[in-house]
Amino acid sequence: MKALVWHARRDVRCEDVPDPKIEESTDAVIRVTTSGLCGSDLHLYEVLAPFMTEGDILGHEPMGVVEEVGEDVDGISPGDRVVIPFNISCGHCFMCGQGLMSQCETTQVHEHGSGAALFGYTKLYGAVPGGQAEYLRVPQAQFGPIAVPEGPPDDRFVYLSDVLPTAWQAVEYAGVPAGGSLAVLGLGPIGDMSTRIARHRGVETVIGIDLVPERLARARANGVTTLDLAQEDDLVGAVRDLTGGRGPDAVIDAVGMEAHGDRLGKLAHRVSSLLPDSMTERLMQHAGMDRMAAFHTAIELVRRGGTISLSGVYGGMADPLPMLVLFDKQVQVRMGQANVKRWVPDILPLLTGDDDPLGVDHFATHRVPLEEGPSAYDTFQHKQDGAVKVLFEPGR
Ligand code: NAD
Ligand code: ZN
Ligand code: ZN
Repeated sequence: MKALVWHARRDVRCEDVPDPKIEESTDAVIRVTTSGLCGSDLHLYEVLAPFMTEGDILGHEPMGVVEEVGEDVDGISPGDRVVIPFNISCGHCFMCGQGLMSQCETTQVHEHGSGAALFGYTKLYGAVPGGQAEYLRVPQAQFGPIAVPEGPPDDRFVYLSDVLPTAWQAVEYAGVPAGGSLAVLGLGPIGDMSTRIARHRGVETVIGIDLVPERLARARANGVTTLDLAQEDDLVGAVRDLTGGRGPDAVIDAVGMEAHGDRLGKLAHRVSSLLPDSMTERLMQHAGMDRMAAFHTAIELVRRGGTISLSGVYGGMADPLPMLVLFDKQVQVRMGQANVKRWVPDILPLLTGDDDPLGVDHFATHRVPLEEGPSAYDTFQHKQDGAVKVLFEPGR
């Protein structure tokens, strides 16, 4: 089959690799029809390279058709249309029972002290072959796959794998009180979708912040008040002016570890990119630093006693934090990988009606065959050509 294979920093190739097979009785194999490209893949493309191994198959946002199931999989059958959550969870352990599927005790990667295994996401998360491929082996298929109805195009459902539950959890964790206000840093797929969900759930004031003009325009077109980081001399003042002088009740950081505007973190990333991967891996596990500009902005923006909800991924082990300000302002911080299946019952009803309240039908900006994967990664990384959400269509 064809798949997008990681070779080195900024070197992804579309190659022929062996077809996946059922290996455990709880596996399924699906034929992938659509598979998203995510801001999380960009971390692997460059900064998290030391945790990647040449030959890793990328991708964690797939949907498709069930080809084959192991003997202990009874909820789905060949021919069913399914979306695959990016985290691999069992559904029967203590953590899954608490709705914390991203911490699943059956799939935790003990060797690296990590939470639940993820598709296509470094050895830290189990080095599980990913879904930017024609076929995918799905472990824990007795629980993971989300069956979706036939009929509408894949765009309706594919974001259930990651974008929708991640943005839903970001809004949930933000805990904005009735009539309250929310600022969203970063208007990539996750931030954009967070603004849509927040508005859908009745948050009165939603402010979106980014520095890419098309992304700001897209949010504005959906009724979000936007601020351009590149144009604003006093972002904190501008946000306070929009929130009764106090700052928003909550801030979602949908940027993560590669934030624009962090010179110290950028230097750390550049130095580590010059070392051999084996040295960088050790360095990052003990002294790694993120580009923290967005999180620092969130701390400044949020009102006293407010909440910061982090959905952007961080990976540093030695990030300096302004504890004085966090403590003095009495800030609450909630974070983590999305517990995908936890939120599906809330989200699915919004995808099956005639209306499309979250605008998923027109969310994608680019649709490409796997063969165009290498250039799609490059275009998305450089935010060129208006790329916000790229969908791969294997076999197209
Ligand atoms: P993306 O890279 O397309 O979006 C990031 C956006 O942040 C870009 O539009 C960029 O211009 C903007 N930005 C950069 N620096 C900024 C700054 N200092 N202030 C404000 N905006 C800034 O990626 P995405 O797909 O939307 O993902 C966003 C983050 O969410 C990534 O870190 C990704 O890894 C993470 N993520 C987390 C989960 C989870 O389960 N928690 C799931 C999916 C994605
Ligand atoms: Zn993703
Ligand atoms: Zn579990």
